[in-house]
Amino acid sequence: MNLILLFEADFSAPATGAAGGRVCLEGRRASYIASVHRAQPGDRLQVGLVGGRIGEGEVVSVAGDRVELDVQLDREPPAPLPLTLVLALPRPLVLKRVLIAATSLGCKRIYLIQSRRVERSFWNSKVLRGDALDEPLILGLEQAVDTVMPRVELRTRFKPFVEDELPGLIAGGQAFVAHPEADAPCPRDVKEPTTLVVGPEGGFVPYEIEKLEAAGCRGVGLGERILRVETALAVLLARMF
Ligand code: SAM
Repeated sequence: MNLILLFEADFSAPATGAAGGRVCLEGRRASYIASVHRAQPGDRLQVGLVGGRIGEGEVVSVAGDRVELDVQLDREPPAPLPLTLVLALPRPLVLKRVLIAATSLGCKRIYLIQSRRVERSFWNSKVLRGDALDEPLILGLEQAVDTVMPRVELRTRFKPFVEDELPGLIAGGQAFVAHPEADAPCPRDVKEPTTLVVGPEGGFVPYEIEKLEAAGCRGVGLGERILRVETALAVLLARMF
């Protein structure tokens, strides 16, 4: 936890935390501050308000699982990537890891989609239910010292998404589908708005690649080694941005 992520509800005074104030934390964040940082009154920790600014919190008190901080928020979070990530839904354990990685790398817009080699049962995963989806996103922000939560959209049907929605997402930018069989190399030093499609663990079937190309995505490869989804994502984003 390189940053303690704060929410408006954590602030006791003043009631809104846009510039800072006094916060009282309990639970996971307080335990982390007490047992991992071993914080004492007067210590300063990096904090940030969700959707807002980053700054420092001075520890006022540590009592059991309750920590009070005086917070000053004085700088903006890092710039987001100019990226829309479209990801074939991975199995739940991998999904968590991929969401943490995507968030810590600066993705702010993520579409999770169905494809032929995605098991339908994955859509029933607890990770996708209600607030559970926030957990890996929060871990990614805390890791990367960022405050802006990605927006995650779920699309349980491939064809309507690719035919009706994807062209609009791509409009005004460029789009790629990462595919081990593609001849074109992954582009570097991308500055313009970009949509990147990453396949499921079993890969996209040829029909899906055709549909994605028809929607405006160019196939790009990372060389002959076939990588796991989370490794491929990190390598793709490191090369592109
Ligand atoms: N057997 C599958 C195939 O050939 O497509 C492997 C799928 S791979 C485990 C999961 C996804 O990661 C792929 O669909 C692709 O989007 C991305 N990926 C993995 N290795 C890649 C590579 N060398 N080049 C481009 N994309 C890659």
